[in-house]
Amino acid sequence: MKLYDSTESPLNVLDAVGAIDDGPIKGYVHSVESFGSVDGPGIRFVVFLQGCRMRCQYCHNPDTWNIGVGDEMTADQILDDAIRYKAFWGEQGGMTCSGGESLVQLDFLLDLFTKAKGRGISTCLDTSGQPFTRDEPWFSKFEQLMKVTDVSLVDIKHINSAEHKKLTGFGNENILDMIQYMSANNCDMWIRHVLVPQRTDDDHYLAELGEYIKTLNNVQKVEVLPYHTLGVKKYHELGITYPLEGIEPPTAARVKNAENLLHTSDYNDWKTWRPRP
Ligand code: SF4
Repeated sequence: MKLYDSTESPLNVLDAVGAIDDGPIKGYVHSVESFGSVDGPGIRFVVFLQGCRMRCQYCHNPDTWNIGVGDEMTADQILDDAIRYKAFWGEQGGMTCSGGESLVQLDFLLDLFTKAKGRGISTCLDTSGQPFTRDEPWFSKFEQLMKVTDVSLVDIKHINSAEHKKLTGFGNENILDMIQYMSANNCDMWIRHVLVPQRTDDDHYLAELGEYIKTLNNVQKVEVLPYHTLGVKKYHELGITYPLEGIEPPTAARVKNAENLLHTSDYNDWKTWRPRP
């Protein structure tokens, strides 16, 4: 089987992955977590898919970056495992796909979420949106995906595109376009923002982000995620220079300030949220 490197275009990779053989589509899985409590509504079975093109300076999972590596699994293999935990999910829980960047493996994700909904499992997409494009055939598949996605956790890395590029290697125009699509099409969303001193902890941009979020429909929850240094060890193990050496997590006061500027307390629909039937 051909392996892919991160320099290939999204469409080339998707076309190639979709054409591996005639059997079920296989995804490249980094790892799974049986009882995730911070990855969407309720308790969730979390699938971390392998592959991401962004290079966020604060990424704590650089081991998920490479595309086309990891454990190859079919949707049914994952769902057979996930469904064993169904008794713990309650009314809100289910399965979340995170990464890496799940949308890198759009064909597999669509297969997985379609089959999950068919088996009565609630689906949650954790994404930073970088692969989003309105180019075909990608866009039609994304539209199908949204029909079988109960809620999306969308991580806005930075509201300003130039700053977003400095932070991640990519601008944010297509990411904001994805969010506009979700807003216009009644897709439920949680918006998340990682607060990093000297990078994203800026009152001007936080206020701009807060105003932007106010314009969106169907935002169930807004979260400020304080930067942490748990990923530093992985960089050292992988021999990669850590870009935020010496930067400490934000203080509680700065987290509170960001929450105020993003008006997080105004978004409470997540408390009574239920997956679509
Ligand atoms: S989008 Fe996520 S996985 Fe990709 S580099 Fe950023 S933090 Fe890491």
